[in-house]
Amino acid sequence: MSMEELQQNAARYLMQTYTRQPLSIVRGQGTKVYDLAGREYLDFVGGIAVNVLGHGHPDLVQAIQHQAAQLIHTSNLYYTEPQVKLAQILVEHSFADKVFFCNSGAEANEAAIKLARRYSHDKYGAGRFEIITMKNSFHGRTMATLTATGQDKVQKGYDPLLQGFSYVPFNNLEELERAVTDKTAAIMLEPIQGEGGVYPADRTYLKQVRDLCSKKDVLLIFDEIQTGMGRTGTLFAYEQFGVQPDIMTLAKALGGGVPIGACLATDSVAKAFSPGSHASTFGGNPLACAAGLAVCHALLEGKVLEHARLMGEYFAKGLSDCKAQHRVVREVRGLGLLRGMHLDMEAKAVVSDCLARGILINAAGEHVLRFVPSLIITEAEIDRLLDTLAQIFSAQSA
Ligand SMILES: *Cc1c(COP(=O)(O)O)cnc(C)c1O
Repeated sequence: MSMEELQQNAARYLMQTYTRQPLSIVRGQGTKVYDLAGREYLDFVGGIAVNVLGHGHPDLVQAIQHQAAQLIHTSNLYYTEPQVKLAQILVEHSFADKVFFCNSGAEANEAAIKLARRYSHDKYGAGRFEIITMKNSFHGRTMATLTATGQDKVQKGYDPLLQGFSYVPFNNLEELERAVTDKTAAIMLEPIQGEGGVYPADRTYLKQVRDLCSKKDVLLIFDEIQTGMGRTGTLFAYEQFGVQPDIMTLAKALGGGVPIGACLATDSVAKAFSPGSHASTFGGNPLACAAGLAVCHALLEGKVLEHARLMGEYFAKGLSDCKAQHRVVREVRGLGLLRGMHLDMEAKAVVSDCLARGILINAAGEHVLRFVPSLIITEAEIDRLLDTLAQIFSAQSA
């Protein structure tokens, strides 16, 4: 199909929920993707923080091929080894004791919301069900998770929203303390707000939130769907803040591109779920978990995590140099290989300009460029992005 045909048929047959770039990607290799005409693009989007191992990583491909030939799906009526093994790795490398698997970020947050409600209900009785989330957050598009999301544009037109959510400004302890009542079951936040424009939490704030939660037996839920799996230079972002949650959600990078989500919790919280209280037909199926295992092995034993940390530091330095040289750059933010560049111009224009110059980036909000490349990105590739941005900003100010 030609690009014109693709666009026409997409308009004709697909619900129009997305604004897409005028690009059709047919193949990927490492940090590069290729369009219909065979043109190469350097990929700093990585399927929105999903393709941590890049495209076509041999270990991931082999794990998927092998598992597909062996067994793709069985349902959770039976035991499968990949699911148990992936849960074990996640538990051994995190604060958590137990894992529930599902198929996406929104579903992982649904599980977290249900688990928090159930825990509070069983321990304190009905009526203590409220969850406080942050303004400018992003937690997904299902009814519960769009209600949890503190952004009007995500909620608009979907009334009535779910009961029991309230919102406070991010990084503001006073307002949070004021919002906690005897009805509060949990506080839910992203250690770095990703979709909202790459805003990290303050270290002291997160510590104070943890103390507040512990004091009141309010559960602390970290949405690490975007920050997890090495994105910030450690397996999970919370490790760098020195604060542990009670519940954590993962998705995006967990399967390296194969859909999978997970909700992790401590034993005392996870006990609130018993047989029948939550479920998913596909959740943790052998194919997705085999992919998750390949990702974990590459990160932990294949030195990808170590490489990501080094590249994150290199990228951070390059971005601050870029800020120092170009007045249009107002601020650079982020950790590891989750970086944002706040501009005094429309981000959209820079995204298009980069595309024309053979680099994929995306915008998180009107004025923020977001960079979430695969963790196998190299210094030379980071330099190429920075050179291209410098050219665009110079042309802009000329
Ligand atoms: C992407 C994302 C989600 C939603 O994940 P889906 O797989 O699209 O449902 C939730 N929370 C955060 C922080 C995300 O980045």
